[in-house]
Amino acid sequence: MVQRNTWQRERVREALSGAPGFVSAQSLHATLRDENTGIGLATVYRTLAGLAARGDADSLQSPDGENLFRACETRGHHHHLICRSCGKAVEIAATDVEEWAQRTAAQHGFSEAEHVVDIFGICADCARARARERGDE
Ligand SMILES: [Zn+2]
Ligand SMILES: [Zn+2]
Ligand SMILES: [Zn+2]
Repeated sequence: MVQRNTWQRERVREALSGAPGFVSAQSLHATLRDENTGIGLATVYRTLAGLAARGDADSLQSPDGENLFRACETRGHHHHLICRSCGKAVEIAATDVEEWAQRTAAQHGFSEAEHVVDIFGICADCARARARERGDE
């Protein structure tokens, strides 16, 4: 049973690696459907959740509450800048955030502090495209 679905998981993992930024299970499923893979949305969901649980993919929630996934180049702890319009993501280090989080937790007597900090905005390409649509250029 487990063996039979291995190719599907591999295919989902490949599709995620090929995505330019953070994607939802639905949009990844749509890509796979266009390629006629026959992989169901439930399998896409399960595979993405499994990858995220093992640390093989990053997951986060968009401001609209949608679960997004990405196969990140950096494995350890890191932060993201994500374009709200196209989903493109940049992996960023945030040394001052690390220090601030540890210090703040310690001040309140908390240990083993973890944090999630992701910045959503509009990337330069999308901002340019929007300006062009408005006729500013
Ligand atoms: Zn990441
Ligand atoms: Zn963008
Ligand atoms: Zn951090």
